[in-house]
Parts: sequence; C-alpha cells; structure tokens
Amino acid sequence: MSNSVIPYGKQSISQEDIDAVVEVLQSDYLTQGPKVKEFEEAFAKYVGAKYAVAVANGTAALHLNSLALGVKEGDKVITSPITFAASANCIRYCGGEVVFADIDPETYLLDIVKVRSLLEEDKDKNIKGIIPVDFAGRSVDLEAFRELADEFNCWIIEDACHAPGAFFKNNKREKVKAGSGVYADLAIFSFHPVKHIAAGEGGMITTNDEKLYTAISELRTHGITRDTNKYKNAASLAVGDDLSDADDYPGWYMEMQALGYNYRLSDINCALGLSQLKRAEAGLQRRREIAAVYRKAFKDIDQLTDRNYEAGQENNGHGYHLYVIEVEDRLGLYHFLREHNVFCQIHYVPTHLMPYYQERGYKKGQYPAAEQYYGRCLSLPMFPTLTEEEQESVIRLIIEYYQTKS
Ligand SMILES: *Cc1c(COP(=O)(O)O)cnc(C)c1O
Repeated sequence: MSNSVIPYGKQSISQEDIDAVVEVLQSDYLTQGPKVKEFEEAFAKYVGAKYAVAVANGTAALHLNSLALGVKEGDKVITSPITFAASANCIRYCGGEVVFADIDPETYLLDIVKVRSLLEEDKDKNIKGIIPVDFAGRSVDLEAFRELADEFNCWIIEDACHAPGAFFKNNKREKVKAGSGVYADLAIFSFHPVKHIAAGEGGMITTNDEKLYTAISELRTHGITRDTNKYKNAASLAVGDDLSDADDYPGWYMEMQALGYNYRLSDINCALGLSQLKRAEAGLQRRREIAAVYRKAFKDIDQLTDRNYEAGQENNGHGYHLYVIEVEDRLGLYHFLREHNVFCQIHYVPTHLMPYYQERGYKKGQYPAAEQYYGRCLSLPMFPTLTEEEQESVIRLIIEYYQTKS
C-alpha cells in the first residue's frame, strides 16, 4: 500500500495530451484557431448532438444558455438543491429567481413529481424552465421531463457536467446519451480537471436547435456577428469615412447586436480537451469496473447504503463521475479515511442552505430528501487511474471502520 493521498477524483495527463498542447503552442494560434472547431465537432459526435459550442467553463455555458433562452427578472426556473451551485446561479445572473425542487431519495436526481407540483401551483406561469442535473453521472429521464415541460410550456437545460458518455433508456428502450439534445433544448458540460475530460478549464454547450446554437455562438464573443445577411446598419454607414454611396460592407466590418461576453475557450484548452476526449470511452469503462468492485464489496455492510445500481438494470448507463454512498456516522468515517490518506468528498452542501440562498428566503427543512441525503453521503475515490491496490485499501478501511464500531 502506498503512503500517498488517494483523492476522490483526479485527472490523468498522457504524453499524447502534452504533445497536443505543445503543438498548439508552436502553431500560429493560441486562441480561436482550428482546435476549437475540431473539439466542438468531435464532442458533438461523441454525445450525438448536432451542434456544440466550446466556452470558458461550465458556469459560462450555463450563463449563456440562460441568456439565449431569455431568462429575465420575474422569471422562475426549477433546479435541484443537490448540485454544484452554478446550476442555480445562472438564473440569478439573468435576474431570474431559482425554485428548488427536492430530490428523489433513490436516485438523488430532481424529483419529477415535486417538479410537477411546483408547475401546477404556478398559476401566474412564472416558471419558464427546468434545469435537471445528471448528478454523479446518472442520466436524468429527459423523455419524462420533456413531456412535463411541454405541458407547461417550459424549456430544459440539462446540466450534464457529470455525465459525458452516460445514457438513459427511453420508453422505446433506446439509449439516449446525456447532452444528445433529443429531449433537452440545451445541455452543458465542464472540463474542469475533476470532471471526466480535463481541459484545464473549459465547458461545452450542446444542442440540436440551430437558432439557439447561433445565438449562443454570438453571445460567446460579445454578441458580435460577421454574417452580412444579418447586418442591421446600412453598408454606407459601415464604411465610415464615406457615409454616402457605399453598397458593400468592408472586410473589417462586424456588428455587435447583443450584449455578449468573452466566454471563449482557447486553442490550448481545446487541444487538451480533444486529446482527452479520445480516452473518454476507455475512462468510462474503467469507472464502471471500479463501480462494480465497490458494489460487490459493500453488499454486506449494514451501516452503508449503495444506490449506484438500479435493481435489475440490464445495461448500466451510469457515468460514475462520483461513487456516492450513504453511511451511518459519516463524519467519523470521513475523518478515519483522511487519517489514512483517503480524501473523500461531499457532493454537495445543498444549494438552498448556502448563505446567499438563505438570504433569498430558502429555509432549512424545506427540502427534506436533499437534507437527509446530505447528512449521510460520501463520495469515494473514483477516477480511471485509481489502481486495484488503492481501491482495495479504501474498501478495507471502510470495512475496518464499521467492524471496530459494532
Ligand atoms: C463542475 C460543474 C459545474 C460548473 O462547471 P465549471 O466548469 O466549474 O464552471 C456546473 N454544474 C455541475 C453539476 C458541475 O459539476
């Protein structure tokens, strides 16, 4: 057994990744070069979506989506309290209000029954959208959410940060990949190093909707368009020094037509992301192997609940970004593991308990399933380069902890 720390998640960088980045550094472009498009196209293909837009990070992706969908003051949007705060914050960036719906205690995903109640209670129709999260890598049943959203005229942003390569099965038993755009209007991913694909920082938006794709592409770069057909100013005005009789737009001309941002991703990041993407499927398989080993090891521990497999699931589409267990005496186990250099994590402190959201009126006790889950959850080491020996030692420590306690 090694004495080094075993974290809950870790990126792996290959020589090929390094070479890909160095190649960009020696090229003509550091940003806005060919790697951006290559990464977008390869990623769209991987998740099965028509369009992809690379952006600075997952949070920027959420922000641009909210902007493109027109979120404004007075609008309300539903999301889960068990997610990274950015899933909710993007609504606040646009002046909208967040409405949390509790999680399903079996799957930890947004509870569709609770979402329906909120929509039915919303007599003034202020709720404009739903942001379900593929938490821990388990794909949300977006077919069911789409039906519900259509009934109430809502849009859907799938927060798929945990789930590249993951899928659920629809009513026809077809595999529907996270971010494929089949049911959700938009989906977002993150390439922060703890996620499946590391690009340093980075994010991706995927969609099958051409209008949203175009709007988001422009908002990513200051709301600027270079599409002559869309220009609003007359060509005579565009020329500048001769405002009278020009009938063609000069080469330098562009128009800022909306208030956008600089949310671009550089070629350096895209080269790394592209290289990592080639190993994504292998990484996912390795995550599934690790999951199977945990599951087998934990079957007989009474103090531990493992809901990572659905009963009778014949084809497991879970992406295993996290391997979350629920345990008795979570704090004790957390410290015990840390003393033995196993650094687990908690995902997440419920967003509605964050002081920022408390100040906006959310109360402790409002989402009991989320709070109960939060009191018991622990994310175990889960990353493709976790060795068998490391995993064995994690398992041994957990068994030892509960044996000495009982
Ligand atoms: C990581 C993450 C984000 C934000 O992504 P960043 O790239 O860190 O901005 C949003 N939602 C979820 C569920 C995440 O895990």
